[in-house]
Amino acid sequence: MSENSEIDRFIRPDLVTFGSYSARKSPETLAGKIGVPVGRIIKLDANENPYGCSPRVNKALATYPYLNTYPDAGQTELRKLLEGYTGISAECIVAGSGSDELIDLILRLFIGVGDEVINCVPSFDMFRFSTKMCGGTLVEVPRDENFAVDVSAVKAAISKKTKIILLANPNNPTGTITPRDDIIEILDTGLPVVVDEAYFEFSGETVAPLVSRYKNLMVPRTFSKWAGLAGLRVGYGIFPPKIAAYLMAIKPPYNVNVAALVAVRESLADVDYLMSTVRAIIAERERLFGELKKLKWLKPFPSQANFIFGSVLNGEAKELQQKLQKRGILVRYFDLPFWRDGIRISVGKPEHTDALIKALREIGEEINV
Ligand code: PMP
Repeated sequence: MSENSEIDRFIRPDLVTFGSYSARKSPETLAGKIGVPVGRIIKLDANENPYGCSPRVNKALATYPYLNTYPDAGQTELRKLLEGYTGISAECIVAGSGSDELIDLILRLFIGVGDEVINCVPSFDMFRFSTKMCGGTLVEVPRDENFAVDVSAVKAAISKKTKIILLANPNNPTGTITPRDDIIEILDTGLPVVVDEAYFEFSGETVAPLVSRYKNLMVPRTFSKWAGLAGLRVGYGIFPPKIAAYLMAIKPPYNVNVAALVAVRESLADVDYLMSTVRAIIAERERLFGELKKLKWLKPFPSQANFIFGSVLNGEAKELQQKLQKRGILVRYFDLPFWRDGIRISVGKPEHTDALIKALREIGEEINV
């Protein structure tokens, strides 16, 4: 078979035209293109932790001897460690290769071809990605002008084919929190509901304890953000025991690698240090918000996560992203059907905020606002 097109007829038709997840380019890839040395690139485009992981993780991994053996498929130690951190029984916990994998497993558990998934947009793009990978149909319910979930619209969107409702709390890319009563109203529909708490440590708000009462609630979380372990890919979810058992049954056996287990062990022995970096990021988020508010041409939205979403009022978000990139500052832009010209800036260290604000002021002068 010489022609690429020949193989296409064997590929699932819905995947031939599949729009992939638009993952961030690494600074190494970009450095050559934009002429800024890797070391000078300020990466504020993927909500990573600028303080890195606990130094205990680096130390433990440097001498870890058992890379030749498979991880424990039952995740016994990992789930016990997470029980200690969350205060929720290990039988309710399942770990994954990033919370991305848990979202994927959850959707694979519930969604078959033609099933409907309610998604409160704009939201985390992996919700779309994993729904499509299952052959599911996305039913997009727009958030209001302040990005609050429109609970009555969510309820009105429910059909006989609806199998799950997806919600990120705080939401990515907007940083918005959904009030607990609204989540409870959605849970009371009885449909399976995912409340993705990837940014829980920054918001301090959680519905995880409700899994004992609501047999339809699922709460994925991650070590990527607060614990600075995005590169090692480790997340977990809190589930009613029955759903946890299903997920344990369908997950790939060795989905969380041994390095990730070591990293979780060490991170959880260093929570005080990690939470001090979380507090530094929260303080910086508030300073960044204040600085962004001073720019007449950008409207930042309050955020409970480690990033801030803004609407570009003058000009295009893509152009702004490109101008910042030329100066070595990476941010993410959104040109969404429900929200045009949005920009999402991850919170960095104080010096990153200073460089960003200086660049934004210069760009403001360039575009004459
Ligand atoms: N959920 C949300 C809402 C996110 O923003 C992210 C990260 N971008 C994830 C899940 C995935 O995180 P992880 O690195 O654990 O796969």
